[in-house]
Amino acid sequence: MWEIDKKKCLRCGGCVSVCPKLALELKEFGLSHDKNLCIECGLCEKICPVGAIKVKKND
Ligand code: SF4
Ligand code: SF4
Repeated sequence: MWEIDKKKCLRCGGCVSVCPKLALELKEFGLSHDKNLCIECGLCEKICPVGAIKVKKND
């Protein structure tokens, strides 16, 4: 499970730069997340300065 609180996001791009699967992209409307690429590693959640992303591994 990958979730973003769009109200918190500053569009800093930090999560985009750490994602090992290139699943994140900053677009005009905000951050886009490709759930087919995401491996739920949690790196984006760790680097986000405002805690906008929540990642939980699905078993
Ligand atoms: S959890 Fe990992 S793979 Fe998924 S978007 Fe975040 S950094 Fe990328
Ligand atoms: S690291 Fe957090 S604040 Fe920065 S673009 Fe990603 S979700 Fe938004």
